[in-house]
Amino acid sequence: MEKKPVAANRRKFLARAREQLLETKTKLLGEIDSELQAERDGNKDEGMDTYDLASEERDREINFILSDRERIKLKQIDDALERLDDGTYGVCEACGLEIAEERLDAMPFSRLCRDCQQDEEREAKSQRSFDNERNAYRKIGSTDADDESA
Ligand SMILES: [Zn+2]
Repeated sequence: MEKKPVAANRRKFLARAREQLLETKTKLLGEIDSELQAERDGNKDEGMDTYDLASEERDREINFILSDRERIKLKQIDDALERLDDGTYGVCEACGLEIAEERLDAMPFSRLCRDCQQDEEREAKSQRSFDNERNAYRKIGSTDADDESA
């Protein structure tokens, strides 16, 4: 495997990838909205009387927690869109090889090729905080990359 110049096919693929990223972002923003709405409604039902005075503060707290979690996903999408602009999208940050298109289809904001990702995941297994990011991948990705690559 050697590094290739950006071929016409690849450029088409990248254009599609951009559209999909934008779609995913729109969908995610919609999901965040309805999640926040559901949380708010649920909490109002539960403790409107008890938490009357504090409810506004609680709302803000819930809002913060949720959007913080979702912000990780949004940032991954925005980063990918930025890299599409500067031409580094789809190029592995660790080894510089083009990331396989099927991998990018499954995980559109992947920054690493499969090999480098596996290296990183081996390290990440000792870091619980990375689990959240991997869950984010699964939630956004339309297909399960682990099954595909088996
Ligand atoms: Zn790599």
